[in-house]
Amino acid sequence: MLNAVLLLAEAVLYFGAMVTLFRFRRRIGLGVFVCAIGVMHFLETYLASVFYVALPFGMVSPGSAVLFSGKLVMLLLLYMKEDAATVRQPIYGLLLGNALMIGLVLLLILRLHAISPLPDGRMPDIGFVDEMGWLMVWGTSLLFVDAILIILLYEKLGAYLRHMPFARILACVACVLTFDQAGFFTALHFVAGAPIEVFFGGWFAKMAAALAYSGMLVAYLRWVEDHDITLPRGLSDIFDTLTYRERYEALVKHVGRDGLTGLLHRGSFDADGEAAVAAGIRTARPLSLLIVDVDHFKSINDRFGHAEGDKVLKSVAAVLIETVGSEKQVFRIGGEEFAILCPQPHALAKLLGEGIRNAVKTSTHTSRFNITVSAGVSTVSETTRCLADIFALADQRLYKAKSSGRDRVIGEPGSEAGAREATPKTA
Ligand code: GH3
Ligand code: MG
Ligand code: MG
Repeated sequence: MLNAVLLLAEAVLYFGAMVTLFRFRRRIGLGVFVCAIGVMHFLETYLASVFYVALPFGMVSPGSAVLFSGKLVMLLLLYMKEDAATVRQPIYGLLLGNALMIGLVLLLILRLHAISPLPDGRMPDIGFVDEMGWLMVWGTSLLFVDAILIILLYEKLGAYLRHMPFARILACVACVLTFDQAGFFTALHFVAGAPIEVFFGGWFAKMAAALAYSGMLVAYLRWVEDHDITLPRGLSDIFDTLTYRERYEALVKHVGRDGLTGLLHRGSFDADGEAAVAAGIRTARPLSLLIVDVDHFKSINDRFGHAEGDKVLKSVAAVLIETVGSEKQVFRIGGEEFAILCPQPHALAKLLGEGIRNAVKTSTHTSRFNITVSAGVSTVSETTRCLADIFALADQRLYKAKSSGRDRVIGEPGSEAGAREATPKTA
């Protein structure tokens, strides 16, 4: 019992000291935290090879159950709050530092020097250092694999457990520690003749450590690490719990999008539209462009205020995505102006325009303001050279729709008959 309490106290102490260094990394530098991790490595291996205490379920070493498990959790923390490029540094540093140490100690210092005994006759215990050395090699290689594994697992589990940080952290720490225990025990068994109780004792202890550390890590992230962040609220909620890759993906998703509606913005339209037109000309596959403009939108702002106007724009954007069926084809190209690229011939594109016009009129969010839209439609033809060509045509037709009374879709002259016969088919 005393042993168990002591182990827990050691874990709390280790965790508390390490996260304190981590918490102040912006002030004292991340190097302090990383160095502390490195220094503890020798003690871990030393304790894991010779220092065991008896617990009801077997033999346990504070070196591996407390210190090694803790270090793995620290590397995970480093990855979560910094990034892959940062966590790589201690991982490689430990591997290379240990290789250097072993190289110096085992191959040069102990082998080549003529050792003078101390006055009391003591000599270094070379057999022990040899044993430690090989455990070091093995332990460090394992740690290298463990550290990479824990990051990969953490990322993989993000797909299922993104909103359950405790389960996500516990699952990856427990899996990696199980793998590690199997690996480290194998070495311990062959080098030091450790009995099988050491495996089970160590495994139980590591699982207990995984539980304790995961709990402490979640508490730390929640109540200590995420405080005093100066990002605007909302953003900080999302970004601070994301890893480097998640942050990158979120960023990529936002790049090219309009802040208000979340639709792709004008820059995306220019790039995607130019590429689509080039592909349309090359492959002779149909491509049409719709420009949709909200009618008398200014009066919405004037009557209900700008904030209400913003909501209407969001609703219009939602109606567009729903009617078109894919958000990749809908762009916000101006204040209340939208463009839609659709891989359809002219008649179908015009029908899509009619579908949009009707949907805006009937959707619950837009109908209460009696919103209507006008649209101009154009299609890539033999004379099309670039996006600007079909854009100018669609824009002219939009202008015509406006000047002839609004709330209408105008396409190629004479396309009306064909449109009535065709069936709408959105992408
Ligand atoms: P028309 O039928 O001729 O298109 O009339 P309109 O009032 O829609 O046309 P106009 O282009 O003159 O006005 C567009 C208005 O859209 C002007 C501007 O105040 C408003 N607007 C542009 N961007 C935003 C926005 O992001 N939010 C809000 N609330 N209003 C915007
Ligand atoms: Mg308008
Ligand atoms: Mg306009």
